[in-house]
Amino acid sequence: VKPPAYRCCTPPQLCAKEALENGEVPVGCLMVYKDEVVGKGRNEVNETKNATRHAEMVALDQVLDWCWQSSLDVKSVCERIALYVTVEPCIMCAAALRLLNIPVVVYGCRNERFGGCGSVLDVSSADLPHTGTQFKCISGHRAEEAVDMLKTFYKQTPKKRKKLCNTRCHVV
Ligand SMILES: [Zn+2]
Repeated sequence: VKPPAYRCCTPPQLCAKEALENGEVPVGCLMVYKDEVVGKGRNEVNETKNATRHAEMVALDQVLDWCWQSSLDVKSVCERIALYVTVEPCIMCAAALRLLNIPVVVYGCRNERFGGCGSVLDVSSADLPHTGTQFKCISGHRAEEAVDMLKTFYKQTPKKRKKLCNTRCHVV
């Protein structure tokens, strides 16, 4: 696995750690455009009580803001973005990445329960008309670290996990 080629003081693993410390499923990510981090995020599902606030969605909002502030076209920026994320994107996030034509995703461990890049569904490379473009996945980057954080999270007592919503919406 090729190491990420960006200059950043906050690797996605740190974002994931921050999520863990805040009672969230530990997933963190970075969106990199031309060697510059234009978005970063971590899971905010429990804090916001919004099941769609996955790390990737949080980071995508930042990318949109960044494009707007830089007067750059969202489509042409997204077509040159690499996403670095600690866990395989879920089906929802994989679909969003596809719709935005993000070409490359480097992820850590697989997401056996919700993965959209082959583990449950293959949103990343399936032949789906009118749903953006297929994207390339490179897996295994710092996978063990990502798994360890997930294990730590799921080992915690329900009380310590804080107010996890009871609807299984704490997906990664
Ligand atoms: Zn997701």
